[in-house]
Amino acid sequence: MIGITCHSGISVQLRTSWIEANASRRFLGCARYGQVNTCNFLKWYDHEISERSKQAIPGLLRSLEKSEDELGRVEDELGRLKKKVKVLLCLVLLLWLLVVKLFVGGLGNGLGNRGMNRAIKDL
Ligand SMILES: [Zn+2]
Repeated sequence: MIGITCHSGISVQLRTSWIEANASRRFLGCARYGQVNTCNFLKWYDHEISERSKQAIPGLLRSLEKSEDELGRVEDELGRLKKKVKVLLCLVLLLWLLVVKLFVGGLGNGLGNRGMNRAIKDL
C-alpha cells in the first residue's frame, strides 16, 4: 500500500507509537513488528514531537484511560439498575393486577361484579 518494504522484503505498515517518548508519533514498521521473526525495520513517518507534547500526551492518555475505566463502571451499574427496574416493573404490574382483582373482580368470596351489584342493591 505504501510501496516501501522492510529488510525482509515485506510491505511495511503505518503504525502509531504509544510509548511516552514518542506518543502518537507515526512510523513505518515491519508487518511482523512485535512478533518473534521481525526484522525490526522502523522509519519515522512523522517529525519528532515537541517536548511539551511529550509531556502532555501521556497525561492525556492516562486521563482517557481513567475515563474509560469510569465509563465501564458506570455501564456496569447501569446494567444492574436496568435489571432492578425490570423487577420493580413486574412487581408494580402484579400489585396493579391484585388491586384490580380486589376492587373490580371482588374479594374472591364468590362475589363477582354481578354479585357485588346485587349486594349493593340489597343494601
Ligand atoms: Zn520486516
